[in-house]
Amino acid sequence: MVTTHNLGFPRIGLNREMKKSVEAYWRGEINHSQLEQHGKEIRAKNWQLQANAGMDWIPAGDFSWYDHVLEMSLLFGIIPPRFQRKDNTIDQDTFFCMARGSAPNGAQAHPCEMTKWFNTNYHYIVPEFQAEQDFFLACDQLFQQVLEAKQHGQVKPVILGPISLLWLGKVKDADFDKLTLLPKLIKVYQEVLEKLQRRSNQWVQIDEPILVLDLPAEWKVAFRQCYQKLNFSGINCLLATYFGSIEDKLDIICDLPVQGLHIDFCSAPEQIEKVINQLPKDKIVSLGVVSGRNIWRADLTSILDKLEPIYKRLGDRLWLAPSCSLLHVPVDLDAEKSFDQETRSWFAFAKQKLDEVKLLAKALANGRDSVAAELKQNQAAAASRRTSTRIHNPAVKQRVKAATKADSQRNQPFAERAKIQRQHLALPEFPTTTIGSFPQTNELRSARAALRKGQITQADYDKTIREEIALVVKEQEQLDIDVLVHGEPERNDMVEYFGEQLTGFTTSDNGWVQSYGSRCVKPPIIFGDVSRPKPMTVEWSRYAQSLTKRPMKGMLTGPVTILSWSFVRDDQPRSETAMQVAFALRDEVKDLETAGIHVIQIDEPAFREYMPLCRRDWQAYFDWAVDSFRISASGVSDKTQIHTHMCYSEFNAIMDVIAALDADVITLESSRSDMELLEAFKSFSYPNDIGPGVYDIHSPRIPSAKEMEDLLNKALQYIPIERLWVNPDCGLKTRGWKEVKIALTNMVQAAKALRQSCKGKSKHEVTAN
Ligand code: GLN
Ligand code: ZN
Repeated sequence: MVTTHNLGFPRIGLNREMKKSVEAYWRGEINHSQLEQHGKEIRAKNWQLQANAGMDWIPAGDFSWYDHVLEMSLLFGIIPPRFQRKDNTIDQDTFFCMARGSAPNGAQAHPCEMTKWFNTNYHYIVPEFQAEQDFFLACDQLFQQVLEAKQHGQVKPVILGPISLLWLGKVKDADFDKLTLLPKLIKVYQEVLEKLQRRSNQWVQIDEPILVLDLPAEWKVAFRQCYQKLNFSGINCLLATYFGSIEDKLDIICDLPVQGLHIDFCSAPEQIEKVINQLPKDKIVSLGVVSGRNIWRADLTSILDKLEPIYKRLGDRLWLAPSCSLLHVPVDLDAEKSFDQETRSWFAFAKQKLDEVKLLAKALANGRDSVAAELKQNQAAAASRRTSTRIHNPAVKQRVKAATKADSQRNQPFAERAKIQRQHLALPEFPTTTIGSFPQTNELRSARAALRKGQITQADYDKTIREEIALVVKEQEQLDIDVLVHGEPERNDMVEYFGEQLTGFTTSDNGWVQSYGSRCVKPPIIFGDVSRPKPMTVEWSRYAQSLTKRPMKGMLTGPVTILSWSFVRDDQPRSETAMQVAFALRDEVKDLETAGIHVIQIDEPAFREYMPLCRRDWQAYFDWAVDSFRISASGVSDKTQIHTHMCYSEFNAIMDVIAALDADVITLESSRSDMELLEAFKSFSYPNDIGPGVYDIHSPRIPSAKEMEDLLNKALQYIPIERLWVNPDCGLKTRGWKEVKIALTNMVQAAKALRQSCKGKSKHEVTAN
């Protein structure tokens, strides 16, 4: 027999019940015990579904009203002082306060930081460690949920491991080595293990995903110290890793007193040989055989070809599971109404993935014949993906194949282009602009909803959008901004908007995945060769330009970001898909130019976050990521000014790669870190124009003109006068009009003040100030 299990299930519920319940609680519409009741129902459904799918072990501890890392902070009493109550109580509201800064029965405080969970689009709440950090079992939820789960099957509690928890957390208001906390942390982990063991749990799954990262030596040592110290007598530990290979840590892992190891067979299949050869022969090898990161139906026959010899060698030591928690995929394909038969046959959501795991286990244990019909059906789907004309478009493939070096090259180098653009655009020094979006008002959202429901016509909707564009243009002229934008009122989302118009993309009805807290996203699915049947943004930009004499900036989303926020096909390298998107965008850029738009921004906010987890894979990524951006941007004449924009401030290490994009202007997020970004320029002098954001749009606080001027003066220590732009640090769609107007007034004032104070000064004179 081949044991099957699951590492984690989507917590949001088929119809986003978790979101609905928790938001109702936040609004005060339901009380805490009602919330608890809803949680029980969601979990029961999830467990029953997993048990019905035939999983021998179902996970408990994977549910959360917000985030599973925050659950660990609560479990171990890692509560920052600003959330501690006088009476020392800790409860669900403590948890919500940490996540959001407020809760129905909690005081307001600055919420904990949120950041991306490895290279996924899920965000976790960063644990905060204090210098005198103590750990204690502060919360009973894990144990209660393990008990609940037992009504549905054999339960495997799941917790995040101590080393990953430390690594993912942050030291606050002090400066010390997080690893010094390890001895104390081990003690509370031990308590958890003992408590689970006393309640006769046979297995515990301890996730240590950081084992796939490049780890400093002392962190590798910490693994040895920690796990050798933990006493696993009476309970078996399955050490779970995912998102990459652990090959280079295998010597450490082999020494750990755990009873099993889970590895990701989808993202790093090559590690299996070493794992089998080196892992002591009494340990379970759990293989993540179907991807928990995408929505593609697995090609079971080809997986079986690889698995059968492995099963021969491992026998009962082989366990099967999805590659990682299914948190990253939608719940159930059966809930989709709009996919046609063929398209549907290409996909598998969480429920279907468990069926695949079970099928593979049956085929191994009882022979392929025992599941012949299912395998045949699966093979037909795989064949359809290989050959369907809806996926494969020879013209698109040919265009990518025929790409030459010249396609990713502007005609002249930046210095020459800049002269032409300066003359043509005739902008003042320190030109002002914004990142693209203006406030998405309720009227816009309701208009979009009404269009979807058929309550208004397309013409009505377009009229609303045109009126909004006219308003945005008028406001910017009044504010005296130099390079205008149309405000993006027509876009629901900066990726979905393009996904809806490009061929090779589709969208699901109900394919929600959790992004953070109660926020869910429905990523578009790139299933086939990508092309652009017709212009996507040109009419809106043309209309906006017709309303003003000032330059209007066209606004597109770049290839990397489009890939990063979609489910990307797995039947060809990502680089190939990125090139197809790049060529489609290139045509859009050219059409914008022809329509009289001479400033075009290609946003790449996800450029940094899409970077592979390990250094060894960076260069290959940079090669295709840079190339695809340049292909999208390089079809225009030198007169046309290409902008790009990136979010998240950790650029310092990759400044040279960003420079290689060769955008004429880049705008970056940096205001929050008080121009920390500029540190990068000490060692790397960025060659083109740059606009480090001077106004943090993520906060409702409005900086004064003086504050922004000070930031700009700081920037001038590194960036010459003629190459510095003035802009907020991201789009304004989440802000209100009132504050936006004040903030932009201050911003323009800061630019004007700077023009005055820098009059006639050369770069050197300014630097000398
Ligand atoms: N142009 C987009 C906007 O202004 C950019 C958003 C982003 O960087 N995430 O909203
Ligand atoms: Zn941004």
